Amino acid sequence: MSISENLSRIQQQIEQISAEYQRENVRLLAVSKTKPVQAIEEAIRAGQCAFGENYVQEGVEKIAYFSGNKLLEWHFIGPLQSNKSRLVAEHFDWIQTVDRFKIAERLNDQRPEHLPPLNVLIQINISDESSKSGIQPEEMFSLAEKISQFPRLKLRGLMAIPKPESEPEQQKIALRKMKDLFNRLQQRFESVDTLSMGMSDDMASAIDCGSTMVRIGTAIFGERNYSQKV
Ligand SMILES: *Cc1c(COP(=O)(O)O)cnc(C)c1O
Repeated sequence: MSISENLSRIQQQIEQISAEYQRENVRLLAVSKTKPVQAIEEAIRAGQCAFGENYVQEGVEKIAYFSGNKLLEWHFIGPLQSNKSRLVAEHFDWIQTVDRFKIAERLNDQRPEHLPPLNVLIQINISDESSKSGIQPEEMFSLAEKISQFPRLKLRGLMAIPKPESEPEQQKIALRKMKDLFNRLQQRFESVDTLSMGMSDDMASAIDCGSTMVRIGTAIFGERNYSQKV
């Protein structure tokens, strides 16, 4: 299957699932980490505009390559070290993995004036895994409050990578908790409109539970080969 066929199949699935669960406006983020610019080009020709990257340097190179295309939207979705924050602030449109005040503060200070505010999602460690990044649910409001005061950041919502579960009912335990947190955040902050959750294996459950953005890599671009990183 080609990238464009994969994309249209996934778009159809998103539409079907959305109709079934009476959800609207679920966006597809194409996760292009480790994939060459030719693959991204094919996705763009098929109409895809939003791309997710996990590695700062790789992402910045791709953004530079496609800088002539103003319709594209670049999301940073990997863990961010402080010393790389400037590159994210200067090049990306969104960051989905903010999980501490310090990094938010740096991103705010480093976001160039000629660009619109950087769109921010707070990452929640919803399955409470010590190995995962993300804040605890109890910390959400205090971090959100601070982010919302930064003029160069725009608080857009929440992101999570729940612990993998194969059964939908098991998947939905964490996903429903995220939806509940999201509802509470949305009541407090007008700018909040994005709940990023759902990957290949839990996409249907995530849409059922109110996801507004699913992040799909392998099902669009094929398996990743890390030894051939761009
Ligand atoms: C890699 C990645 C994805 C996509 O994973 P696939 O299994 O390739 O669909 C989604 N979200 C995040 C945060 C990722 O790092």
